[in-house]
Amino acid sequence: MKATQNQQQDLLHLHTLATEIERTRLAITAIANSAELEAKRSEQLLLANELITNHNALEAVELELKRANEDLYLVEQRISRNTERLNATASPKDAQAIQSELGSLAKRQSELEDITLIVIDQQEQAAKALADVTARKAKTDEELASLENSGQKEVMKLQSAGSLLMQEFNALKAHIVPEHLDRYTKLLSRGVPIGRLVGRDCGACHMSLGASAYEAIISLPAEEFAACPDCSALLVRG
Ligand SMILES: [Zn+2]
Repeated sequence: MKATQNQQQDLLHLHTLATEIERTRLAITAIANSAELEAKRSEQLLLANELITNHNALEAVELELKRANEDLYLVEQRISRNTERLNATASPKDAQAIQSELGSLAKRQSELEDITLIVIDQQEQAAKALADVTARKAKTDEELASLENSGQKEVMKLQSAGSLLMQEFNALKAHIVPEHLDRYTKLLSRGVPIGRLVGRDCGACHMSLGASAYEAIISLPAEEFAACPDCSALLVRG
């Protein structure tokens, strides 16, 4: 296939641009699917669930404490009323009954005080656990935002570079001879379509040409496209 040296270089450059555009596209995809970002998002989700669980646990224990305090208050009220009644009564029988009830109430008061102490301890533990998860989630939120932010900046840089490459690619493509472009497109569907001959090596498949194949290629007129005998890619000399 006939092509001036400039046309050969242009086609090679077109392929270099296409390769860079593809590399840019892959880099953008890699950032969006970054394992680090995925791991951080999963961590954030787990912590958000943990936060809800810890919040509910604290609420439950606070409710339990409120109930224990209310029960304790009622028992204390009854003790106070019964003590007044005991002081006021003249009947030994009534006094005995009141004292018996006071005994039961004192036992109940002691039980409730013990429960309250246990629940206060549980409340402290739950509040501590909640504060711990809240701090860990805040840290993860911050790390994720920072990762997303730097990822976004990187994607914007790549998009801008990709857009410039695409402009250059389209401008160059408009100047490529249709016959050359057709050949390039056909070869592209099978693998690397074009490469530079570096020494005896094909820039497309990186195989080293045999002596006779190399001789045949370098003896071709300069305005003739050479092809690699191994991979069929167009070979640009010089
Ligand atoms: Zn080759």
